[in-house]
Amino acid sequence: CGIVGYVGPATDGTALEVVMEGLARLEYRGYDSAGVALVTADGIATRKRAGKLENLRAALEAEPLAPARTAIGHTRWATHGGPTDDNAHPHTGGEGDRLALIHNGIIENFHALKKELLADGVRFTSETDTEVVAKLVGREYDRLGDLTEAMRRVVGRLEGAFTLLAVHAESPGVVVGARRNSPLVVGLGDGESFLGSDVAAFIGHTRHAVELGQDQIVTITPQGHTVVGFDGTPAEGTAYEVTWDAAA
Ligand code: GLU
Repeated sequence: CGIVGYVGPATDGTALEVVMEGLARLEYRGYDSAGVALVTADGIATRKRAGKLENLRAALEAEPLAPARTAIGHTRWATHGGPTDDNAHPHTGGEGDRLALIHNGIIENFHALKKELLADGVRFTSETDTEVVAKLVGREYDRLGDLTEAMRRVVGRLEGAFTLLAVHAESPGVVVGARRNSPLVVGLGDGESFLGSDVAAFIGHTRHAVELGQDQIVTITPQGHTVVGFDGTPAEGTAYEVTWDAAA
């Protein structure tokens, strides 16, 4: 339901705080679970909980995560699988579960894709449509070693509505996003970049925004962003300045 992504400078360890603040700003949309994934020096670290952000905060206080410059965060409104800790996002995939992914929307053909993966021996830990995408992108990454291209190969196989964000343990300064029939906005800061399902996710940090078009994939680094279409051709979103004031 709500999506936030952040990547800061190599010396930055505050990605979790930025993402938690973004999720709080998206709370008005309603949700039943929340979760985060960080790219830490030890790989991907996730925490997710059914219920309010408060439950996630309590879990993070009980078992703090290592500092990170790169993070994604999600508030879920369940469509496939009940509102449980296991069904909450992020979901992981690939060798050693080194890829983490979050999703807004519905993957209409997830059942056929899941059947194919199950036949291949892939194991699932949730009932969501989303986990199928995490497994597919994780496998493509293991073959290609490139997060943007791994995402691109998979989105071509998906039907439905989705905003997706992914991070990988081997790409500590990168978040990749993709969208079809569901919104995704980039926020460009000074040495830091943001992704959000709406600008409220990062309005406290920057007013330089880029709205992605239909069937586009974006890759953010602390230095900026690049966009390609689902067909792989270079593309551009629509840049604009956010003029409204954030309610503090
Ligand atoms: N269909 C996904 C799920 O049920 C995503 C729901 C959402 O947009 O939050 O987990």
